[in-house]
Amino acid sequence: MDFLSDRINRIKPSPSMAAKALVEKLRAEGRDIVDFTIGEPDLKTPDNVVEAAIAALRNGETKYTGSNGTPRLRKAIAEKLARDNQLTYAPENVVVGSGGKHIIFHALAVTLNPGDEVIVHAPYWVSYPDMVVVNEGVPVIVQGSEAEGFKLTAAALEAAITPRTKWLILNSPNNPTGAVYTAEEFAALGEVLQKHPHVWVMSDEIYEHFVYDGAQHVSAVQAIPAIAERCLIVNGASKGYSMTGFRVGFGAGPVTLVNAIAKLISQTTTCPSSISQAAAIEAFSGSQDAPRAAARSYAARGKLMAELLGKAKGIAVHAPRGAFYLYPSVAGLIGKTTPAGDVLASDLDVVRYFTETAGVATLDGSAYGVSPYLRLSFATSEQTILEGCRRIVEACAVLT
Ligand code: GLU
Repeated sequence: MDFLSDRINRIKPSPSMAAKALVEKLRAEGRDIVDFTIGEPDLKTPDNVVEAAIAALRNGETKYTGSNGTPRLRKAIAEKLARDNQLTYAPENVVVGSGGKHIIFHALAVTLNPGDEVIVHAPYWVSYPDMVVVNEGVPVIVQGSEAEGFKLTAAALEAAITPRTKWLILNSPNNPTGAVYTAEEFAALGEVLQKHPHVWVMSDEIYEHFVYDGAQHVSAVQAIPAIAERCLIVNGASKGYSMTGFRVGFGAGPVTLVNAIAKLISQTTTCPSSISQAAAIEAFSGSQDAPRAAARSYAARGKLMAELLGKAKGIAVHAPRGAFYLYPSVAGLIGKTTPAGDVLASDLDVVRYFTETAGVATLDGSAYGVSPYLRLSFATSEQTILEGCRRIVEACAVLT
C-alpha cells in the first residue's frame, strides 16, 4: 500500500509477538497448544507490587507524570543500580519508559542519522535489527556461534567497527541463548572499545535476576567502567518482577542522552503509566524475595526442560546460564521426513511441524539470526514443560 512509509515497509512484525498471536488464534480455533514462544513470566506479579498499584489508583496517582518518569521512581532506580549493580547514577541519569523496548527504540531514534551503523551480535533478540532499520540505521550483524558460547569476541567486535559505528548492543543474560558474559569477557570487549571512543554501548540487562549454576550477572558498566560516559543501561520491571503488562523500563546513562530520550517521549507517549510507575517503585525498592524466588523456580524449570528435550532425537541442547530460554540446535532434524511426507528443510519447517503435528509452539532460530536452532521459553509451568517436551520427543521419534 503506497500510503505506508518505506520505513515501515522495511520491517516485519515482532516474531515473538506474532508467535504469541498465532498461539492465541490456534487456541481460539479449539487447538490444544503448548506454548513455549513468548518470553513472559507465568508467575504472579508480587502482592506488594499489586498493592502499590491499587494504592496509587486510590490516591489519585492517575495523572500525567514528567516525561522522564516520577522523581520517586528515578530515585528508586538510582538506588537499585547502586544496590544490585554497584553503580553510581543520579536520578538525573535515569529515564523511565513504557518497557525496556520503548527505551531502546527511543534511544536509537534520538541518536541515529541515516546510514549510522549499530553492531548487533547474533543470535540477537528479534527486535534489535528492525528497531535500527526503522530508525534509518544499518544493523551490522556479527554472526556468533555455539562454539564461542554464543558470545561476541573481541576480534569479531574489532572487525565490525567502522567510522560509522554508533552503537554496540550487548545483552547479558542473553535472549535467546542464555549466555552470560563474565567480567573478563566484558573487559576483553572493553579493550577494543577503548580504541574506538566514538562507539557507544547499549547494555540490555533485562534478565539480570535470572542466572544459574553459579553464573553471575555483571553489568557492562561494572565490568568496563571506562564506558560509563558512553553507555546506556537498559533494564526494567517486566521480567524480574513478572510485570510485563505494566510496561515499565528504564535507561540509565549520560544526562544528555537520557534527556534526549525524555524529549522524544514527551512527543510520543508523554510519560509511562503513572500507576505502573508507582508499582515499579515498590518492585525496585521493596522486598526482593520475588525475583529471588523466581530465579530459583526458573533454574529448576530450565534444567527440567534441558533434560527432557535432550531426549529428543535430533535436538542438541546446552544448559542455559541465564535468562529463561533454551536455544537448542535442530541440525539433526534437518533433511528428515515427517509422517505426512514433508521434508524439514529449515528450523522454520521444524517450528511448523511441531506446531501443526504436536501442538507445541516454539520460535525458529532464523528469527534470531542463527539457524538451525529453536528458541523455547521455560518461563512456564513444570506441567507445561513436561507435556510440551513429551510431545516434541514423540514428534522427533516418528521422523525418518
Ligand atoms: N522479550 C520477550 C521475548 O523475547 C517478550 C516479547 C518481545 O517483546 O519480544 O519473547
